[in-house]
Amino acid sequence: MGQPATEADGSLALWVCNRCGWVYAPAEGDPTRRIPPLTAFERLPPDWSCPSCGADRDYFFH
Ligand SMILES: [Zn+2]
Repeated sequence: MGQPATEADGSLALWVCNRCGWVYAPAEGDPTRRIPPLTAFERLPPDWSCPSCGADRDYFFH
């Protein structure tokens, strides 16, 4: 909201879990997994999963 996306550094688009509806907001990161803010979804660790339901990355869409 009002923040310019840094297109060169991957996408700051929101990603939504297809199982539980949890939203990954790159601008905020994922504090529960020690993911710092401004981490694009594409740059999350391979073993990252939904903090809400545990779905792996393949379940996310945007
Ligand atoms: Zn989920």
